[in-house]
Amino acid sequence: MRKYALLPFNFITILNHEILINELGDFIITPIGTVQKILSHSISDEDLYKTLVSNFFVTEEILPSLLDIYASRLRTKKGFLDDKTSLHIFVLTLRCNQNCIYCQASSQEETSKHCSMSLEDMTASVQMMFHSPSPNLTMEFQGGEPSLEIDLIRHGIETAEEINKEKNRKLTYVLCTNCRKLSDDMLELCKQYNILISTSLDGPSYIHNKNRGREDSYEKTIAGINKARAVLGNEFVSALMTTSELALDYPKEIVDEYVSDGFNGIFLRALNPYGLAAQNEDWKRYNQRFISFYKTAVDYIIEINKHGIFFREEYASIILRKMLTPYTTGFVDLQSPAGTINSVIVYNYDGYVYASDESRMLAEIHDYSFRLGKVTDKYEDVFCGSVAKRMGKIWANEALAGCSSCPIKVYCGADPVRHHSTQGDMYGFRPTSLVCEKNKAIIEYLFSLIVERGDEVLPIFRRWVK
Ligand code: SF4
Repeated sequence: MRKYALLPFNFITILNHEILINELGDFIITPIGTVQKILSHSISDEDLYKTLVSNFFVTEEILPSLLDIYASRLRTKKGFLDDKTSLHIFVLTLRCNQNCIYCQASSQEETSKHCSMSLEDMTASVQMMFHSPSPNLTMEFQGGEPSLEIDLIRHGIETAEEINKEKNRKLTYVLCTNCRKLSDDMLELCKQYNILISTSLDGPSYIHNKNRGREDSYEKTIAGINKARAVLGNEFVSALMTTSELALDYPKEIVDEYVSDGFNGIFLRALNPYGLAAQNEDWKRYNQRFISFYKTAVDYIIEINKHGIFFREEYASIILRKMLTPYTTGFVDLQSPAGTINSVIVYNYDGYVYASDESRMLAEIHDYSFRLGKVTDKYEDVFCGSVAKRMGKIWANEALAGCSSCPIKVYCGADPVRHHSTQGDMYGFRPTSLVCEKNKAIIEYLFSLIVERGDEVLPIFRRWVK
């Protein structure tokens, strides 16, 4: 009988294998019955035993020295906490020049009044951003359609650049735009400050135009993407898609569209239950259809890669980075403690600060649960106030019922805002949680690919996480 002690790990059974997963996200694929052998100290396979020791599943040494190494690797995995709040979203306006059928931001007509941020609030928001201790600050401009407020963008950036002469942070700017009206002035500003363009492209014209509520939307978006690429370079332009009900029937066509438009990846993004999208009546059915859509699309993307084309699915890449590398990802939706406040904050057009993008969307349907304060308030009162404290009690899945014992929690994240909006309770109830169902299905699906087709998919996955 071997002498060793167990370190914390859990396991799931997939395709007649036991996948052992430790707290660092390392995993070992083993035959059925392995866990029982580990527990009864009866492992006869020498190679497996060495793997268990070297990957922190069992320990032969006295704990303190081993724990130092373990702790340092865990610190690396939670490295996003060192960076503090680095993503600062500025919702400039609700005005928009599109009518997306699932608009999650409760947008208003282009000509609407009183739904844009004032210059004073922009100044105060930028000042508050610099109170964050993060060495990297990203200013992301959102709406409505933020390019309708070019003066506000310019003012925000100039204010940030001025303050930064003293503060010396690494500043990154992102413009989330539908690309309908990318004026020369706007692109000149983008060129001047290296602003990254993040646009929305839902797939071929018959999907994009239907989703976006205008017949010429696809043509305008593609033209805007090409114009931005010509001025800024391809690497400055990325696109996101949102999976409407219609899109669920076209996984391959959507991927083909992204490939033919010259993108090297796609983020297959499910609808969020906010804004107009909240009117979807059957979220459970949507969730299940989305999971099938996702798997079909990823299977297809793998086939494309097998033909020598580098093209990755971004959500899978984030999860795979957690599985296959020792590093942190910084992706706010899959963090524990949650990305809200810790990594992202929102300065809204109305002068209030919210815990996340989803939080401000809830405010548009008169749910102010995640309103942290005003942009003119003290930084400490906003970032460490009563709402933040309440959320802080339930934003780590290591401490949540259901998640704490979940074998795949290290790849997943806590999402108090989503659980509040879908279950009426920030804590959430995992057996009926749709976000849990989706994440679990996707993570287990990636494992099933590795178990069943490891030789074929792992070289592709390793390229995705570089
Ligand atoms: S949300 Fe679900 S999949 Fe994610 S850690 Fe919690 S129980 Fe596991």
